[in-house]
Amino acid sequence: MSANVTGTDLRARLAGVRENIEEARKRSGRAGEDVRVLVATKYYAPEQLSALAEAGVGLVGENRAEDLVEKQELFGDKFEWHFIGHLQRRKAKVVVPRVSLVHSVDSVRLIEEISNRAPVGGAEILVQVNVADEESKYGVSEGEVEELLEAAAKTEGKVLARGFMTLAPLVEDPEDVRPVFAKLRTIRDSLRESWSPHFDLSELSMGMSGDYEVAVEEGATVVRIGRMLIEEDGPVRRHDGS
Ligand SMILES: *Cc1c(COP(=O)(O)O)cnc(C)c1O
Repeated sequence: MSANVTGTDLRARLAGVRENIEEARKRSGRAGEDVRVLVATKYYAPEQLSALAEAGVGLVGENRAEDLVEKQELFGDKFEWHFIGHLQRRKAKVVVPRVSLVHSVDSVRLIEEISNRAPVGGAEILVQVNVADEESKYGVSEGEVEELLEAAAKTEGKVLARGFMTLAPLVEDPEDVRPVFAKLRTIRDSLRESWSPHFDLSELSMGMSGDYEVAVEEGATVVRIGRMLIEEDGPVRRHDGS
């Protein structure tokens, strides 16, 4: 898949995504809450990111450490950068100082490594939860979540947990993954208060091109959008009353 849409095209597509998010928020009674749109940069060659900047994209997420470095060399100051791919411990050194949030933290050892590489003020992370317990997916099981929060708490402010991320299974009908998103929200809600002395666990990074509206209905605070911005037919308006 290649991204050769223009800035103008992207702007229109993003506007469609934001409208759909707005509708989803209204449907679920979350109208007052903020939902951020993160654009996944893995589909773009470094020089193509200028189209995203042109389209007014503010937040991007990269999957690979090497690509992050290369893209930041060109556009480091144009976006807020998150890391959304699987993070190997030996890459933490490169990635952690370059991003404001790592979405994909899934082991105690990785937390310890991030702690060693954290900038002044701490490194913000999300715990990736494999809600659907898919063999093929990274992320911890529900039962392991607290162990990671405890490891983060031990770093005394170097690793700051901000919430949770999940990758839902790919399905034809996004309604099929609603329970996955609802589950992640339940996990957060059950831990939020008891962990509030340590962490503000408010963030839920969930929803991608195929299922972001359902994710927003279930409480997403960040959706990660990729394919939809570059595919031939663009965002589908599913909720225009037709
Ligand atoms: C690629 C990617 C996305 C975007 O997925 P699309 O289906 O292309 O919208 C979101 N999250 C992660 C972790 C990704 O790797």
